[in-house]
Amino acid sequence: MIDKKELEKLYKDCAEFWGFEKQAREAQEECSELITAISHYLRGRKDAPAELVEKIADVYLMLNQLISYFGEDWIMEIVDWKSDKIKRKLEEYKLKEQNEHKGSQS
Ligand SMILES: [Mg+2]
Repeated sequence: MIDKKELEKLYKDCAEFWGFEKQAREAQEECSELITAISHYLRGRKDAPAELVEKIADVYLMLNQLISYFGEDWIMEIVDWKSDKIKRKLEEYKLKEQNEHKGSQS
C-alpha cells in the first residue's frame, strides 16, 4: 500500500500537472457519481456496496487534490472548528433523546 507521504506527493503532482480547473471539474463529476452510488445503495441494489466504496475512493482522491491547492492546514483548521460544532450537536441530540425516553417512561 502506498504510504501517506507518497500519496500527498501524488495529489500535489496531479493537481499541478492538470491544473485547478480540470481537477475541480473532475471532483464535481466524481461527487455526482457518488450521489448516484448512494442512491443505488439506499435502494438496495445488488452491486451497490462495491460501487459505493469505489465512488468514495474516487471522491477521496479528488478531495485530496483540491486540499493540496488550498493547503491542508487551512482545511484542517475548518475541519477542527466544524468537528467541535458536530460534537456539541451530537451531545445535544443524545441528551434530548435521553430526556424524551425518560419522559415516555414516566
Ligand atoms: Mg468517474
